[in-house]
Amino acid sequence: MPPFHFSDDVEKKPLTWEYIRKVVGNFVHYYHPHIGLFRLSVGCALVNSGLTILVPLLVYRAFQIYLPAKNYPMIWAVIGAILVLMILTSAASYINVRFGHVLGTRMEADMRNDLFRHLQKLSFSYFDREKTGHIMSRITNDLTMIAELAHHGPEDLLSSTLMFIGGCAIMLYLNPLLTLITWLPFPLILFWGYMFQGKMRTGFRAARRKVAEINSRVENSIQGIREVKSFNNERREISRFRQVNSRYRHVREGIFSVMAMFHSGLQFFIHGYSLLFVGVGIILTGYGKATVVEVMTFFMYSKYITMPMFRLVEFAEQFHMALSAYERFYEVLQLKPEIEDKPDAVKADSFRGELSVEHVSFKYSGTDEILHDVSLKAEAGRTVALVGESGAGKTTLGALIPRFYEIHSGSIKIDGIDIRDYELRSLRKNIGVVRQTPFLFDSTIRDNIMFGNPDATEEEMIEAAKEANICDFVMSLPQGFDSQVGEHGVRLSGGQKQRIAIARVFLKKPSLLIFDEATSALDNESESLVQEALEKLCKGRTTIIIAHRLSTVKHADVIYCLRDGKVVEHGSHAELLAKNGYYKMLYEMHTF
Ligand code: ADP
Ligand code: MG
Repeated sequence: MPPFHFSDDVEKKPLTWEYIRKVVGNFVHYYHPHIGLFRLSVGCALVNSGLTILVPLLVYRAFQIYLPAKNYPMIWAVIGAILVLMILTSAASYINVRFGHVLGTRMEADMRNDLFRHLQKLSFSYFDREKTGHIMSRITNDLTMIAELAHHGPEDLLSSTLMFIGGCAIMLYLNPLLTLITWLPFPLILFWGYMFQGKMRTGFRAARRKVAEINSRVENSIQGIREVKSFNNERREISRFRQVNSRYRHVREGIFSVMAMFHSGLQFFIHGYSLLFVGVGIILTGYGKATVVEVMTFFMYSKYITMPMFRLVEFAEQFHMALSAYERFYEVLQLKPEIEDKPDAVKADSFRGELSVEHVSFKYSGTDEILHDVSLKAEAGRTVALVGESGAGKTTLGALIPRFYEIHSGSIKIDGIDIRDYELRSLRKNIGVVRQTPFLFDSTIRDNIMFGNPDATEEEMIEAAKEANICDFVMSLPQGFDSQVGEHGVRLSGGQKQRIAIARVFLKKPSLLIFDEATSALDNESESLVQEALEKLCKGRTTIIIAHRLSTVKHADVIYCLRDGKVVEHGSHAELLAKNGYYKMLYEMHTF
């Protein structure tokens, strides 16, 4: 069979000691809170293997010493002792298996919490880049893998070492010559193990990615299931899924070919090893350098030499699987949130609401510049409109104000202070955003409104719903505010969802509002209800209305026209019409 090559998309991080030390060091601190459990389970594993290696020694003494002397009481005592050892080792094994797994699970839960907490801190640009399915797979499968290693790893390592060293010591004591001869093949076995390490690690890492791809394919396809069905694209989806699934299968099969080679080689060594004991034993017995009972005892001990090796190899395998998973976990934790508070960030309870955007240029990572030297001003309590064709950069500009992305040059000031100088929490607390398609969480209407301010009272929540023109509708539902909205709010119409999103903002009571095409996706009837709610919402607040339909912006105090990321005109509706420029052209195109 040709040697298997794992796909090239796997980054090959060099497995240096430095790197292992860093990753393992980070991993070790997850043991700290559970050190008691760790000691208990490792202690029991050590007791288990420590006692197990005594058994052949007892048998040896019975045959070699007590049997020739016909000392039957001692023989019975040996049998009794073996029985006691068996009971003790079983009890130790129970505690070890049970609490070892508890330890692993608790560490897994801690890591999952850390990962989730960190994800919540990362900026929009991370989520623009990363697929949901990939993130899901990091937070589930990957961590389960790590939990397995977390308790099996140290246990296997320590108890195998103890068994190996203890076994060797007893054998040296029984017959040094026979022992030394049987050590000869060790380097070969270690070399064999070493040879396969790198290959397995790359393989497991590749497999991990492929699982992530499967998750992300499923996630995407299920999210878009309405599009899939309406375009009759089920077959296409199935075939695309088949492709990722088979890529995964291919990688897994590759790993198994490596693993099989590794294991069969290892088995050859281990069987050969037992044979070596017997062969060398017989010859040494012939020359009078060993006794039959010694050879028999050595044969029993050969299991305690080979078993640790097997276990160590298993450990190596698990270590590689877990390392590849832990790397993926660690990678995310190492990502620094791009947007963070300055050390002396300003805390603001509310804003007067004076906004000024000064010479702002911006590009997303990996795109050309989207906004070029944009400047605009909104006085406190006034309404400013931002119009322009689709793709002009309106939404982008809106996303810069709450610092969802960081600007590259220029500045945005609220009440005369640069937004980068505010505490992020207080900046965002004071800005309300209503988007074209609001996101509702899969929960009740109440929860979705309360999202605007989890500390609000029931009365405040109902008041917000009334202001947003949604209360009457909610009351008409059999379960009122306890009605479930479904995933992404599928059980509601566009207008209803939008009004719930507006109720949220009412509850949040921000000083500055951004409406990004808030009514563009609605039919005329829902639009008038939403429009009414929005008008109530903007009273007394600085508002930025982003729109491509101009009917909604006529009444704004100042209108800015954005074209290909540049402000080309600004003024009131009447002034801009009189200018006879870009605004006039847009206005006539829509013929209101
Ligand atoms: P508008 O809201 O005026 O229709 P947008 O601000 O949404 O325009 O988009 C402006 C440009 O920025 C478009 O060319 C779009 O492709 C690009 N763009 C928008 N969002 C992202 C993003 N998250 N990553 C990269 N490019 C983006
Ligand atoms: Mg937009």
